[in-house]
Amino acid sequence: MENIINQQEQVLMHTYQRYPVVLDHGEGVYLYDTNGKKYLDFASGIAVFALGYANQEYNNALKSQIDKLIHTTNYFYNEPALAAAKKLTKASGMDRVFFTNSGTEAIEGAIKLARKYYYKKFGKADSEIIAMEHSFHGRSMGALSVTGTKKYREAFEPLIGGVVFVPYNNLEELKSKISDKTCAILMETVQGEGGIYPADPEYLKEVRKICDDLGILLILDEIQCGMGRCGTMFAYEQYGIFPDIVTTAKALGCGMPVGAFAAKELVANALEPGDHGTTYGGNPLATAAVAKVFDLFEQEQILVNVKEVGDYLQEKLLDLMNENQSIIALRGKGMMYGLEFANPVKDIISKALEKNLILISAGTNVIRFLPALIIEKKHVDEMITILKECISMAELISC
Ligand SMILES: *Cc1c(COP(=O)(O)O)cnc(C)c1O
Repeated sequence: MENIINQQEQVLMHTYQRYPVVLDHGEGVYLYDTNGKKYLDFASGIAVFALGYANQEYNNALKSQIDKLIHTTNYFYNEPALAAAKKLTKASGMDRVFFTNSGTEAIEGAIKLARKYYYKKFGKADSEIIAMEHSFHGRSMGALSVTGTKKYREAFEPLIGGVVFVPYNNLEELKSKISDKTCAILMETVQGEGGIYPADPEYLKEVRKICDDLGILLILDEIQCGMGRCGTMFAYEQYGIFPDIVTTAKALGCGMPVGAFAAKELVANALEPGDHGTTYGGNPLATAAVAKVFDLFEQEQILVNVKEVGDYLQEKLLDLMNENQSIIALRGKGMMYGLEFANPVKDIISKALEKNLILISAGTNVIRFLPALIIEKKHVDEMITILKECISMAELISC
């Protein structure tokens, strides 16, 4: 492993502080490194592998699509793209979709769509987007421009203009920043990277109402919290509202790099031939994965499992919090939780890895739980047992 790690450090850019593990293959909710060490994975590739590793039906669907047609340009039609778009529009309540290769690109598309919508409506290009502090929407220049974390942005300025930030879940601040130039309000339904903060129900409903009253578009980024992660296909279902534009990615392809932005008919039509495009986006291999993912979600009753085992996970995390002075909050829904500690969680996460458990953080003090949506109660128990040991070990070190 050391050899691979050393070599890789020489040829890849140093944009990550990687853990010293070389992963080899996966099976269900477990990953194996090249030495054969087995890890319980509670990160699922950052909320990507919702169906678990080596799902045979998923793999076979991709294999047969590989033998048929991997790629064609968007100048032509293909059947997997139609199947995927139908399933995604149905699940999201949107009318039209544009497939991308990543979440970041879905955000880029959503920004362009909102701006074009405003441009067509008012005949001028001076629109503003209101985005949230501590949000995360991606690393490209456009997506970074709406990401409310200074340390990600600073070195790359000037970013795109016309973006105003407000604190999340704060209606008064939001209202005070709305102007007649506001074309869209953009937020995650549940903030992920920023520490797992769900939108307050009353807040989001009120934001929807404000958008309706003033003709502002509501863009919900469900790249992390959508696709069943919170117990419904999209988290906004639980708030009884729809956005005008939704972005999705991560579990949309369950491993295939694919994202999408989808919108209501009236909004979607603002983008006209020539306004936006992509070489890879929506190619038959990626969209065959998307279509299969939706089928498997139904077949394997994923949402039922998220509810049942997710509740159990929440209960166990709550117990853990009540037993530990060092844990100060638990936030989240479904199978998306953040456990906030009084101190940095780096040591706990490293200890967990030594003890065969993969966890990730969200910021410095929050452990983020994003398991595959197929986990069973026994996996929760296994995780909790290891985590308990790691917390007490980390406490010993800091004493
Ligand atoms: C991961 C993420 C993105 C960026 O997606 P990529 O596929 O990494 O480009 C955007 N928004 C949210 C909420 C995310 O969690």
